[in-house]
Amino acid sequence: MRIDLCGAAGEVTGSGYLVDTGRARVLIDFGMFQGRGATDARNRDLGPVDPARLDAIVLTHAHLDHTGRLPLLAERLPRQCRIHATAPTIDLTRLILEDSARIQVGDHERDLRHARPGERVDPPLYAHAEVESVTQRLSPVAVWTPAERRNPAHCPPGALAGGDGWLQIADGVRIRMREAGHILGSASIEMDAAGTGGSRRVVFSGDIGQRDTPIHPDPDPPSEADLVFLESTYGDRNHRPFAETVSEFQTIIRAAAWDRAKVLIPAFAVGRTQILLWSLSELFRRHAMPRIPIYLDSPMAARASEIYRTHPCATDAETRALQASGAIERGLRTLRVLETSEQSRALNDEWGSSIIIAGSGTCDGGRIMHHLLHNVWKQGVQMVATGFMPEGSLGRRLIEGARSVRILGRSVEVRAKIRTLGGFSAHAGRDDLLWWHGHLQDAPRTALTHGEQRQRESLAAALRGRGVRTVDVPMRGASIEL
Ligand SMILES: [Zn+2]
Repeated sequence: MRIDLCGAAGEVTGSGYLVDTGRARVLIDFGMFQGRGATDARNRDLGPVDPARLDAIVLTHAHLDHTGRLPLLAERLPRQCRIHATAPTIDLTRLILEDSARIQVGDHERDLRHARPGERVDPPLYAHAEVESVTQRLSPVAVWTPAERRNPAHCPPGALAGGDGWLQIADGVRIRMREAGHILGSASIEMDAAGTGGSRRVVFSGDIGQRDTPIHPDPDPPSEADLVFLESTYGDRNHRPFAETVSEFQTIIRAAAWDRAKVLIPAFAVGRTQILLWSLSELFRRHAMPRIPIYLDSPMAARASEIYRTHPCATDAETRALQASGAIERGLRTLRVLETSEQSRALNDEWGSSIIIAGSGTCDGGRIMHHLLHNVWKQGVQMVATGFMPEGSLGRRLIEGARSVRILGRSVEVRAKIRTLGGFSAHAGRDDLLWWHGHLQDAPRTALTHGEQRQRESLAAALRGRGVRTVDVPMRGASIEL
């Protein structure tokens, strides 16, 4: 069996693995390259993937860096090729890919308007028609661990090959999904693949969430593998405990209320935003905080929150109870969702304290850009980084303490306080990654992906120290034979 790495090797975007057993070809994720160097040409290059020869596709979760290039394959996939994912992943993938197509088409129209006569303009990466042909192939895996969430009654007839949630997806290939605790519906994938040289078990961790955080259940680590692909986003450091993070967040909001200043929070629409809103609700309900306005400046995040509400069985028991009693809404009485960009821009003229949550999470586009442009030079303003800021992003420059930055083509002095609350991260820290890996018997061969070089070298050293003999840190285009 041979596994080709299509991306997220030495970087954190573009996840994709092509498994070729000799009898079947299965693709795990096919995400978009984002951030520095992520050109259209790079995204268009399918690498080793020939869509016409794929037998099945499996998704770990809905984030764009795991699903964003599927529409490039859609028109050429064979008729029987299904895309297997959990039910919440299916709903979120639809939302994320439709948004991505809207951006591609919008960028293309802008390029056409700005093109000189006779200048060649590339077509959009994809449009709604291609996204539509992806969503038609999505097929729900209703059963995934832990056991409390198993509900075979929701499985399509004949989908389950046997007990324990195993699902046959191609000739000699079966998969099982386990909770990954990263965003709603996120899963790690166990794959049993029988090729010409016998059967092997390969585990794809997907993105692993933190333990003991709200909404998402804890990750459910597998116990057996011949080869495991493990993410390493935070392979070199731990986050602060969640409770400490929330109390730091409280201090930030109190200061903002006192200074009558804004708190800007760049956040991913799916996962991070819901955790932030959950925490704000909790703080406003329990801590006699001044109830300052919260602006959710992201229609997409609002739609993602709606999808969260429609899949209570994929959230943890505490969140289910809070939701059923209406407590979360009670804590968010000052929340307003801004639908139009006019509403978003109107905030620039507004004085007083407020919390503004907007995308993109890395400050490389989206509505957060004009909020930063209009506020980052003001004393008293605070920006709270809650997620991973890739090398080269505006977010990374800000958290590294740049005195001045370029935003939307203009040079701006940074006087705002830039804070990092890593405890809100959707990714496990180093100890949680080692905890997850520690459940695997016999320290199997491990390939570290989805991390920058420094982070995965550090995690590799820790794993070797724990007796894992073979730890690979493959680069894009590499392949692993098993
Ligand atoms: Zn993710």
